[in-house]
Amino acid sequence: MTPIRMVDLQGQYLKIKSEVDGEIQKVIDQTAFVNGPAVKEFQTDLERYLDVKHVIPCANGTDALQCAMMALDLRPGDEVITTSFTFIATAEVIALLGLTPVVVDIFPDTFCINPEAIERAITPKTKAIVPVHLFGQCADMEAILKIAKAHNLYVIEDNAQAIGATYTFSDGTTRKAGVMGDIGCTSFFPSKNLGCFGDGGAIFTNDDALAEMLRCVVNHGMKARYYHDYVGVNSRLDSIQAAVLKIKLKHLDEYNQARRAAAKRYNEGFAGCDKLKTPVTGTFTDHVFHQYTLITKDIDRNDLQEYLQSKNIPAMIYYPVPLHQQKAYLDPRYKKGDFPVSEALCQSVISLPMHTELDEEQQSFIIRSVLEFVEK
Ligand SMILES: *Cc1c(COP(=O)(O)O)cnc(C)c1O
Repeated sequence: MTPIRMVDLQGQYLKIKSEVDGEIQKVIDQTAFVNGPAVKEFQTDLERYLDVKHVIPCANGTDALQCAMMALDLRPGDEVITTSFTFIATAEVIALLGLTPVVVDIFPDTFCINPEAIERAITPKTKAIVPVHLFGQCADMEAILKIAKAHNLYVIEDNAQAIGATYTFSDGTTRKAGVMGDIGCTSFFPSKNLGCFGDGGAIFTNDDALAEMLRCVVNHGMKARYYHDYVGVNSRLDSIQAAVLKIKLKHLDEYNQARRAAAKRYNEGFAGCDKLKTPVTGTFTDHVFHQYTLITKDIDRNDLQEYLQSKNIPAMIYYPVPLHQQKAYLDPRYKKGDFPVSEALCQSVISLPMHTELDEEQQSFIIRSVLEFVEK
C-alpha cells in the first residue's frame, strides 16, 4: 500500500506531468511571467466553466475576499455577516479593512451558515453577507439571496472550498458555486479542489461595472497606466500558475467525481456505526468533498486522531476553534455558548484523508482503523 496522505498532490501531478511540464516550459520560453497569455487563457476557460461573465485572477483567496470588499466600497464601521465555522481568512479581511465581522451560527448537519441566524443578525449597519461553501457544498444560497435582496445587502461567496459544486434553485435552475452572489471568491492553494503549484486566487462577477472596479483594485487602483484612481493592492496570478490551472481545470469535474467516489466508499464503510455521523449534503446542492468530515459521538476525537497517526493515517481537525473564540477575534459582544452548533462541532469533528488519488486499499485500511478505535 502506498503511504496515505491527507492530500496527494504528487500522484495527481504524475498523471498530467508531460502536459503540465510542457505548458510551464512554454511560459518560461515566452518569459511572460506576469499577466502572460496563459493568465488570459485560463481566465476565459474558467469564465466558460463557471458560466460567469467575468473572472478576475489574483494572487490568493484571501486577497480575492479583500479585493471584493474593497471594490464594493465597504467602509470602516460597516458590518459584514459571516459564519462562526470557517477558515480564518474569511473574517481576517473583514477585520483588516476595519469592517465589523458579525458572527452567526451554522447548520449542524451541513456545516454551512444558517440563513435564519443571518436574518436575526442584521442591523442598520449591515452591508454584506459572506456565506462560505464549506468543505465542498453550497450554503443555502436561495434563502441567503432572498434575505440580501430584502435588506439591500451585498453577497460575497467564499468559494475557496467548493469550486465545481452546483446549486439547484427551487425553480430547477442551476448555477455553479461562486457565481450566484454579487461577487464570488476562490483560492487555488495547492490543496484546494482546483489547486496550482503555489498561491493563486480569483474573483467572479456577472456585473460589468464591478468587474472593472475589481480589475482596478487588484492592480494598484490603476485604470489607465500610472493613473491611480483608487487605493488598490498588488494581487496577480503568475503565468506559471495559470498554465498549471488551465490544464487542471480540464480535469476538475473528473477530480471532483473521484472525491465523491471516495466519500461514498467512506460512507459505506461507516454506515451503521452510531458513534460516527457521516457528511450530510444539503438538498439544494451537490458536494465536491474538499474535506470528508465526520462528527464523532461519545468518543475522544483527539485520541482517535492519535490512534490513526500511530498507524500512519493522517487526520485533521477542521476547525478546532470557532471564530468568536479565536484570540485575535475575541469581542465583548460574544461569549462562550453564543454559537452552540459551531462550538459543539469544533469539539467533535475530524477530517479524514480526501483527495483524487485515494485507492480502495488505502480507504479500507483507514475505515478499518477508524472502526477499530471506535468499537473498542
Ligand atoms: C483556503 C481558504 C481561503 C483563503 O485562500 P488562500 O488562497 O489560502 O488565501 C479563504 N477561505 C476559505 C474558506 C478557505 O478554505
